[in-house]
Amino acid sequence: HTTHFGYQEVPVDEKASRVADVFHSVAARYDVMNDLMSFGIHRLWKRLTIERSGVRPGHSVLDIAGGTGDLTLKFSRMVGPRGRVVLADINESMLRVGRDKLLDNGVGGNVEYVQANAECLPFPDNSFDCITIAFGLRNVTDKASALRSMTRSLKPGGRVLVLEFSKPVNPLLSKAYDEYSFRLLPRMGQMVAGDADSYRYLAESIRMHPDQETLQEMMEAAGLERVEYTNLTGGIVALHRGIKL
Ligand code: SAM
Repeated sequence: HTTHFGYQEVPVDEKASRVADVFHSVAARYDVMNDLMSFGIHRLWKRLTIERSGVRPGHSVLDIAGGTGDLTLKFSRMVGPRGRVVLADINESMLRVGRDKLLDNGVGGNVEYVQANAECLPFPDNSFDCITIAFGLRNVTDKASALRSMTRSLKPGGRVLVLEFSKPVNPLLSKAYDEYSFRLLPRMGQMVAGDADSYRYLAESIRMHPDQETLQEMMEAAGLERVEYTNLTGGIVALHRGIKL
């Protein structure tokens, strides 16, 4: 069946490979496109995520769906030589671009690179002080499993932070934003990366993603406590945080 915007809805079993194709094709251009498409604002969203993480020297951090490693880069400096950061992603191309970027930035021995699916994380229970997933959860087929897997891998007292596109709070902003994402974005994708389809997928996946309240409930259902969220840029993005007690 087709969605509200007339795009063919992707069946669940095809979604994973669709996501893989998208990120293989955008990996090399990913950082440039991020800056372009968000007018650089994704840097502020990520900075707030870092500030709310509570990460300290010696901590163990997982950045799942970490892609090209923006958060990992900052965490690696925060945890210091006695801490560790795991940059994990399901996609090999994204991981490779991430690793090259981190090495270019002088990131050393406290970062590990792991190819992993958020739905079934390959880490022991209670491994991490903090787990982040930034602009990744909406690509995951089984979000409930992913949130449970993250909660399981978190140490008691640890935090999960989900940075993700959400629902604009103001109808006018919402309209402008739809125009932007469904018209302008695919054209920019075509011009800059020669690839309109990936950016059409991006707009579509944003539209389908659970809103603020729904995601909060999903995190609670996964066993996280004191779940709260902050709207950023009028709710275009939201930062959710939950604690494992
Ligand atoms: N976190 C980075 C950032 O904020 O710049 C990258 C975000 S990028 C939009 C989304 C990433 O999620 C891609 O690198 C993709 O390969 C990854 N991804 C998609 N599905 C995944 C899954 N099931 N498990 C782990 N990573 C996944």
